[in-house]
Amino acid sequence: MKAAIPGFDSLPVVCGISDRHIGHDDFLKSLGVIKARLARMQQVHAAKVVKVGARTDLSREIAEADAAITDVRGIALSVRTADCLPVLFYDPENEAIGAAHAGWRGTRERICPGVVGMMVSAFGTDPSKLVVGFGPALRQCCYEVNSEFLVHFPGSVVKMAHKHYFDMVGENAGQLISAGVSSKNIYDCGICTSCMNGDFFSYRREKDAAGRMLTVIMLK
Ligand SMILES: [Zn+2]
Repeated sequence: MKAAIPGFDSLPVVCGISDRHIGHDDFLKSLGVIKARLARMQQVHAAKVVKVGARTDLSREIAEADAAITDVRGIALSVRTADCLPVLFYDPENEAIGAAHAGWRGTRERICPGVVGMMVSAFGTDPSKLVVGFGPALRQCCYEVNSEFLVHFPGSVVKMAHKHYFDMVGENAGQLISAGVSSKNIYDCGICTSCMNGDFFSYRREKDAAGRMLTVIMLK
């Protein structure tokens, strides 16, 4: 099974999330994405957003970036994850897209509002029209954290039976709404990588043995 984000299947974009049963090359082939036109980010758990243009060098990873935006047709933006949250953006008015890798550090650095802000300045995006999608991630059910997380995310840490759990997806949704995104335009695949470890990679469950899911979006 491949993961799908409801709401995104009707958009004029190519988009998908690989699972543990398909290799990245086969997955890209199934989407019709040409590897030479795949933008890959170094992903350093920070919040740098990069605008990808027709002349961007795609032969190597984009240094230090954890998010990318583009309005170039046929360039696919990609995010690799195993527990961190892949976030996709689509601006229907200006025909532009974005992709972000949001772990807890990137979430703390407000990477999603960073993408929204960059799309506003680069493409004139109206945040209230943006469509946003969440892929598979470690969810609150399985994301036990220490109480330090209360300092960073006071509204998104739940205490149950003397343990703390982080709602990373809820935190990102809240940040997006505070950046002007409409809650009705936020779609979530609802998959927890740990609960669904048979189909998806989970770094917390598998440690260094964990592979990575690839999440891709491209303007048709
Ligand atoms: Zn879970």
